[in-house]
Amino acid sequence: MTRIERLADLLDEPLLVAGPPYILGGQANVRYLTGLASSNAAVLVEPDGSAILYTDFRYANRARGIPGVEVTEVARGLIPAVGELLSGRRIGFEEQHLPHALYRALVEAGVDAQPTSGLVEGLRAVKDAEEIEALRRASALSDEVFAALAEERFSGRSERELAWWIERSFREGGASGVSFEAVVGAGATAASPHAVPGDEPIDPGVLVVVDAGCVLDGYCSDCTRTFAVGDISERLHELYALCLEAQLAGLAAVATGVAGRDADAASRGLIEAAGLGWAYGHGMGHGVGLQIHEAPTLRPESTDVLEAGNVVSVEPGIYLPDEGVGVRIEDLVVVTDGGCERLTRFAKELTTVA
Ligand code: ZN
Ligand code: ZN
Repeated sequence: MTRIERLADLLDEPLLVAGPPYILGGQANVRYLTGLASSNAAVLVEPDGSAILYTDFRYANRARGIPGVEVTEVARGLIPAVGELLSGRRIGFEEQHLPHALYRALVEAGVDAQPTSGLVEGLRAVKDAEEIEALRRASALSDEVFAALAEERFSGRSERELAWWIERSFREGGASGVSFEAVVGAGATAASPHAVPGDEPIDPGVLVVVDAGCVLDGYCSDCTRTFAVGDISERLHELYALCLEAQLAGLAAVATGVAGRDADAASRGLIEAAGLGWAYGHGMGHGVGLQIHEAPTLRPESTDVLEAGNVVSVEPGIYLPDEGVGVRIEDLVVVTDGGCERLTRFAKELTTVA
C-alpha cells in the first residue's frame, strides 16, 4: 500500500494536508505522502485513496511527475485558492499545521472545515525500509564528521568556530543542510541544554557538549557527544561516567511494546539515584525523521508506546550551572522487536581532544 492509501484507510471524510509557507510540519506531511518537497503545496486525500495535489507554478512541473496523484495548479495564495475549489464540502484539516488566518480563509470560502490531529504524524512515526536507509546514511555521515572533529584542536578556538566547522563538514560530506544549528557548548555554556555557541576561546580542562545533525535525502541525523579538552578533574570524569551509564540503560530499555515513559525512567532512575535528578530537566528522547523532532516521545509524561520501525534519540544529560558543567550523550536508534539498533556509532568512551 502507498502512504496515501494507508492514510485514506484512516479517513471517514477527505483530509486536506497542507504545507503553506513556514509551516514545516505541514510541509513534511506533504513530502511524506507525495515525495514533493515544497514550501507551498497541499494534498487532498479522499477516503477512497484518490488524491489531488495542489501547488503553484514554481512546483507544478515536478508535481506532475508524481504517480498516484492528480495535480491542480493554483495561485500562490494556496489555501484561499484551494478553499474556493472545495467550497461547500466538509473537509478535515490538520489543526497543528494551519494558522488561524488560513483556517478562516477556508471557512470564508465556504468549506466546512473539521479539525484533525496527528494522522499523518502517526504514520510517519513508523519508518519504512527506505526511510530507515536514509536515516542510516545521514547517521553514517554524522559518524564521519564526529570522527574528524575528534582530531581537531578545541582549546584556543571558539564554540562558534567549531560549530561552523561542523556545519561546513556536513555540507562538504554531501548533506543538503543541517537538521538544526550545531550546538558546541564548553564548560559553563553546556550547563544549558540548548547552549548558544559563543566567541570566547575554549580553555583546557573542560567538558564540551557537541550536538549536531545533518539532512541527507530529506532525513535528519541527531547525535551528541561530550568531549574532554585535555586533562579534566575527577568530578568531570564521574559526571561523564554517570551520564554514559544512564544512556546505556536508556538504550537497553528501548524495544517494541515499551512505553516511552518507561524507557525514559530507565535512564532517569540512575541519575536520580546519584542525587542529580533535578539536573536532568528534559525528556530522554524524541522521534527523528523528515523533521528533527517528531513522534514518538520518550519522557516522563509521554503516552506513546514504542513500535518496531520507530526511530528515536536516546539522550540523557546532566546540567549543573553552579559548577559550570554540562554533559549529554545521544544516539539515534531504530526500535526493533527485541531492542534497538544504533544508527550513530561514534565511540562513547570519553574522547579527549587537544
Ligand atoms: Zn541532538
Ligand atoms: Zn535530539
